[in-house]
Amino acid sequence: MKDVLKDDEHVVGLDIGGTKMMAVVYNGKWQDLGRCKKKSKFSKEEPAEARIIRVVSEAIEAAGNVPIKGIGVGSPGPLDPVSGIVIDTPNLGWKNFPLAKILSDRFKVPVIVDNDVNVGTYGEWCFGVLKDCAHVVGIFPGTGIGGGIIIDKKLLHGFSGAAGEVGHMTIQEDGPFCGCGKRGCLEALASRIAIAKEVAALAARGDAPYVAANCGTDLRNIRSNVLAQAIKAGDTLVEEVVRKAAYYVGIAVGNLINILSPEAVVLGGGLVEAMESLYLEEVKRAVKVHAMPFLRKGVRIEAARLGDDAVVRGAARMIAEHLSVKKK
Ligand SMILES: [Zn+2]
Repeated sequence: MKDVLKDDEHVVGLDIGGTKMMAVVYNGKWQDLGRCKKKSKFSKEEPAEARIIRVVSEAIEAAGNVPIKGIGVGSPGPLDPVSGIVIDTPNLGWKNFPLAKILSDRFKVPVIVDNDVNVGTYGEWCFGVLKDCAHVVGIFPGTGIGGGIIIDKKLLHGFSGAAGEVGHMTIQEDGPFCGCGKRGCLEALASRIAIAKEVAALAARGDAPYVAANCGTDLRNIRSNVLAQAIKAGDTLVEEVVRKAAYYVGIAVGNLINILSPEAVVLGGGLVEAMESLYLEEVKRAVKVHAMPFLRKGVRIEAARLGDDAVVRGAARMIAEHLSVKKK
């Protein structure tokens, strides 16, 4: 990996998620010098602006108040990476939120903002097992399904700035409704919520005994680790539901391989972390059926390796590269 910072220069990576926020200070050797993590809970006493600033300030404090050169941010979108304005995030309740300006006004350094899944894909690419690849697709199935696309070592933003919405690829024309208003999106068929809905129905009628006994039928409780435990405990219909969802993701991966011809596809997020081998097995099975043989030959399908640190690392790396280009 090319050096973009001197060893004694520092940048901050910030991950703003629907449930938690995390900031980490890195030096030029990409060592983690200090971090701060808080819930994404905003109130009248501490609105979003103040809380985000506090997370970054406390991470810098934890790093011994080193001077920082810039801040990279991964945020839920849609957002405009050029202006750093978050356009609309239903989870956080933001509309036209000037995230980059808030941070650059307070910390007096350059700030760049990009979609969290783009940034996570970038992190996995720079620091994970795919460093040697020039073309990478990232897919992160969780509560929703996000994607990031790197072509010729660059993140693809497209005309709108929001390219890579893999979760809203139509898989089944007359399928279930999606949060975006369309029917049959990958997310509506294969997200953790889609799986939980089906599993809750199984539990309610006695066909998923482990789930019924351990977490009931509330969708919010049927999380990835519960699904993994239920499968281990022998809830065979739960396994079938999870495998089918993973297969749907594999259909999307097959389509993306046909269109983009990536060298590698990286899959992350809670479902993959909890059930890596079962999940990847189904994805690979679908890819064999749905990607063209010539295009799928030699394509690596890998599980993400950085877990919760993918976004902060990717964001820090992105601002460091941005600063190094500006220097030249
Ligand atoms: Zn959708």
